[in-house]
Amino acid sequence: MSDAGLIDLKGVGQKGLIKLNKIGIYSLEDLLFHLPIRYNDKTKLSKISDLEPGKKFLFEGKVDKANVIFFKKRMFVVRISDETASIQLRFFYFNKSQIKNFTIGKNVRCFGELRLANNVKEVVHPECQFFENERPPLDEFLTPVYPLTEGLHQYSLRNYIKQSIELLKIGKIHLPELLPKKVLDKYEFVDIKSALSNIHRPDKSTSHEDLISSNNKNKQRLVFEELLAHQLIFKRIRSFNKTLESFPLDNNMQPIKKLISKLAFKPTDSQMHVMQEIIDDMQRKTPMTRLVQGDVGSGKTLVALFAALHAISNGFQVAFMAPTEILSEQHYQSIKLMLKDFKINISLLYGGMKTREKKIVTEDIKLGNVDLIIGTHALIQNQIEFKNLALIIIDEQHKFGVHQRMTLTSKGRKSETYPHQLILTATPIPRTLAMTLYGNLDYSVIDEMPKGRKEIETIALSETRRDEIFKKISKKCHEGNQVYWVCPIIDESEVLECKAAIKTHEQIKKNLKKINVGLIHGRMKMAEKEQVMRDFRNKKIDLLVSTTIIEVGLDVPNATVIIIENSERMGLSQLHQLRGRVGRGDKKSTCILIYKSGLNDTARKRIDILRKNNNGFDIAKEDLEIRGPGEILGKRQKGDINFKIANVTRDYKYINDTKECSETISDKLSEKLVKRWINENVEIGKI
Ligand code: ADP
Ligand code: MG
Repeated sequence: MSDAGLIDLKGVGQKGLIKLNKIGIYSLEDLLFHLPIRYNDKTKLSKISDLEPGKKFLFEGKVDKANVIFFKKRMFVVRISDETASIQLRFFYFNKSQIKNFTIGKNVRCFGELRLANNVKEVVHPECQFFENERPPLDEFLTPVYPLTEGLHQYSLRNYIKQSIELLKIGKIHLPELLPKKVLDKYEFVDIKSALSNIHRPDKSTSHEDLISSNNKNKQRLVFEELLAHQLIFKRIRSFNKTLESFPLDNNMQPIKKLISKLAFKPTDSQMHVMQEIIDDMQRKTPMTRLVQGDVGSGKTLVALFAALHAISNGFQVAFMAPTEILSEQHYQSIKLMLKDFKINISLLYGGMKTREKKIVTEDIKLGNVDLIIGTHALIQNQIEFKNLALIIIDEQHKFGVHQRMTLTSKGRKSETYPHQLILTATPIPRTLAMTLYGNLDYSVIDEMPKGRKEIETIALSETRRDEIFKKISKKCHEGNQVYWVCPIIDESEVLECKAAIKTHEQIKKNLKKINVGLIHGRMKMAEKEQVMRDFRNKKIDLLVSTTIIEVGLDVPNATVIIIENSERMGLSQLHQLRGRVGRGDKKSTCILIYKSGLNDTARKRIDILRKNNNGFDIAKEDLEIRGPGEILGKRQKGDINFKIANVTRDYKYINDTKECSETISDKLSEKLVKRWINENVEIGKI
């Protein structure tokens, strides 16, 4: 009996095949591993009076009213009621036949999420099913909801997967068990076929709570297998890296010693320790791939500079990539100053530069006239060619995707020789978590702050107390302090964020006439941004209103106050990162979090955590506890590695176990596991 293929499913056809391919599904096995993101519970009916905001419900009612109205835009609004209460349904997209369906007195069964709009209970775009006297039967099973691609409907996908589960049951799909028997026994996991079939088609006895719980046995089994697959690919990348050639450097520490002797401060023990780990790595014939984690302000730039100086002293070029133009400009200025006693050519490259200047720098890079090139993504553009790049430094790694990292690596590649890679991040993640996300990298931590740093005092104030804040700030500025005033807009566009900053800038100027107020945002030209930053650094500006573009890396030690608007809507780690713009010198610093009044308990707790903690690790840990999994890494990082079912913040209890297990898996089995779980063509050696 031969195995069935996607095309054997009813309703797929050539078009369906293309759509499935688009989401990485090429075989029935892939389809079986396309797992639900959640479930809809249409197995029971709720009374309208029992509906709660933020949850999905199945409910019924009779149509009382149905009208097309204009309120900003055209919409269709319906009111239905059962014997307990009434509720509003709202449609923004609708056609004539839908309007016709909602005749007064008709019975309708709806499924959707309740929300409160100005205290009115409503459901936007519910699924609707009309019926006469006879009630349609309720679903017997929970309905899985799958991640989609454009043009592929939920019901088609559901239908295809349902068919494949049936094929699996009658043995038409060959799906090998890839977990060793020992593992299955040890954790009491079910076999793969039962696990998949229970997840896609949960049986009647499975409750919704059990299915979405992290303790669900079927799910845990898949989570374990997926994490194992990731450990296996890391293992493969690590051993592949060992077969690659890089540029072995010497161990002459003279240049670094010279640099240390010129510094205004003594590097911390932690900085020295991490620097040594890097130098040791770079003496090897194989490429270094090291991640350095250090809280905001721990002095990561200096460690990177040691590494750069070492590679340059060995006669090679170094690329230093930062996520924003102002950050690369700042690195350029401060590194130039720190290396002024060395014969080193340093250039800056970013997208907004004049074409002519860019051409010169590009040419210099190619000819080897520059030793250290600092810049943004511009460094990874096609026309950039290095003469002899031996080290790549990536600052604030979490702002770049894996993809960009790969491109830069391949740039340094000279036939079969790869540059060393040093990746810096302030992301405060526990070691086990780092192992899951970056298991292919070696890992160092700078766990010590430079001496003399004072704790940052953190205050939360309601928006209604703006006048008080103005007074406070005016006093601070007159005492010679400099201030950041940050205006983040969450989940909206950069344009809106800039508008908010511009508005706040006007307002502050009006209220604080004697203070020099500056403005910086992402839509200004690079030259303007540079000028504003220079003025701020030279104290010509006392108060700088900005968008979140100052979030990473900026270093103006005389700035001692930061005010953050909309703080109730921001992640704790992001707030901590922003707060890290102050407290960089030896003066006492303050962070004022402005929030909208009417905070709920969670929000209050979050602000309390920030007030009580000055350490990124502790903050992340506490945030994890109150906000639950998933939030802590923020959106950008979640995209870094896509898990199908594992949630690293929730499931990291399995990380050590899967790592251990990965050592016992044969190459053949490893290949199968990786193929099953990681279908995004990880190109080995390029990460
Ligand atoms: P981050 O780790 O956030 O990138 P930076 O590298 O920008 O931190 O360093 C923060 C500030 O601390 C800079 O002004 C830097 O010059 C200074 N600094 C770095 N190392 C030390 C040290 N060992 N002692 C005192 N100041 C230091
Ligand atoms: Mg930095």
